[in-house]
Amino acid sequence: MKCFNHPNAEAVGVCKGCGKGLCLACAKDSEYGLSCAGKCETELKLMRDVLYSSDKAYGQLSPIYSRYTAVLGMIGGICLIPNIFLLVTGKNMDYASLLFGIVMLVAAVWYYKISSKFKVKNTKK
Ligand SMILES: [Zn+2]
Ligand SMILES: [Zn+2]
Repeated sequence: MKCFNHPNAEAVGVCKGCGKGLCLACAKDSEYGLSCAGKCETELKLMRDVLYSSDKAYGQLSPIYSRYTAVLGMIGGICLIPNIFLLVTGKNMDYASLLFGIVMLVAAVWYYKISSKFKVKNTKK
């Protein structure tokens, strides 16, 4: 393929924005792929900024979910520990708080999974 602007020059790549062939002199690195000068370069840079900021958003979400995990895990523990004590001492368990504690722990595990997913996404960058 030849360059769109220089019919004699061999293209080294195509613009990610418009698909035109680009020689070494025309190809701009938009940090999101090759692009021709001008409109495409600006557009691709914008696109990269959007992608980058969504990565940052993921990074900010992760600690929030980690906090939920800690809080829910704590509530679950507070509900379950007295029941374990009742079980050990051979008394009747409080099924309402037992059930509540289990639900809280399941929710904590759920949030933990979400937060670790965000973390993986964040370190890949
Ligand atoms: Zn272009
Ligand atoms: Zn060219």
